[in-house]
Amino acid sequence: MAATSNFPAPVPEFGAEEFWRGCNRGELMMQRCARCGKFRWLPQPMCPVCNSMESEWIKVSGRGTVYSYTIITHPVHPAAAGRVPYNVAQVQLDEDPDLILITNLVGVKNEDIRIGMPVRVVFVDHEPGVKLAKFEPA
Ligand SMILES: [Zn+2]
Repeated sequence: MAATSNFPAPVPEFGAEEFWRGCNRGELMMQRCARCGKFRWLPQPMCPVCNSMESEWIKVSGRGTVYSYTIITHPVHPAAAGRVPYNVAQVQLDEDPDLILITNLVGVKNEDIRIGMPVRVVFVDHEPGVKLAKFEPA
C-alpha cells in the first residue's frame, strides 16, 4: 500500500525489534512465553504468568476485532495537521484477549467503525524500508 504520511518512523527498541522486522516482512509477530505459552504485548523480559525469562516469537494470524477506537480531530504533531480527522484503534487479536495493539484502521470510513468489527492486518509502507501494521475490515 502507499505511504501514509510524514509521521515520524518507529524506533525499534525495548525488545520489540522482532515485531518491527516482522512488519517489514509482512508478518505479524508476537512474543510468547516459551514455558507456559502466554502471549506478551508489549514485549517484556519476564512472563507475567509464570515468571519465565524465556520467550519466542510467533507469527500470528493477523485477525482480530476492534476493541476500542477514537477519532483524532486535533493535530497533536505537525505531521498530523493535514491528516485530521483520523482514527486510532485498539485491535484485540484472535490468539489471546490480552493481545491488544494500538493501530490505525484503513479501508473504512471513520463513521463506519464499530467496536467488535472483525479486522485483519495489512502492512502499509510508511517510508522506504519501514512498514506499519494497520488493520482493515475482514
Ligand atoms: Zn509463562
